[in-house]
Amino acid sequence: MVDSACIFCRIAARDIPADIVRESDHVVAFRDTNPQAPTHILIIPKEHVPTLYDAGMKQHQALGKMLALVGELARKEWAADGFRTIVNTGRVGHQEVYHVHMHVLGGPEPLGPMLVRRK
Ligand code: 5GP
Ligand code: ZN
Repeated sequence: MVDSACIFCRIAARDIPADIVRESDHVVAFRDTNPQAPTHILIIPKEHVPTLYDAGMKQHQALGKMLALVGELARKEWAADGFRTIVNTGRVGHQEVYHVHMHVLGGPEPLGPMLVRRK
């Protein structure tokens, strides 16, 4: 299922441009336009699923491939010393784009703390 109003569905369909680094049958990986680290890649399922909260076993292949792709990308391009993966979900998780995506953030320098704690 695709949502023609969804920006990530449109990137997956190559309807709008993105710096795509990898594509396979279930997933697409592309660079974030507003990188938060020297390497910042987003990995999405091709199927439109708004959030991880909405996902389930029906999406197990795509979700598995998203995770499996991370190491492959990291070994190919960068990040032998590590990286961080994040999936923001919903209002509490500060999700901005409602199509499931995994952020992959890489150094080379160590990233900041995972969460800035509220006082
Ligand atoms: P979220 O806060 O939903 O986890 O993250 C959404 C991410 O998508 C942000 O890091 C933002 O920079 C990125 N983003 C939003 N619109 C676009 C776009 O049109 N193209 C690309 N490549 N990234 C986008
Ligand atoms: Zn979508």
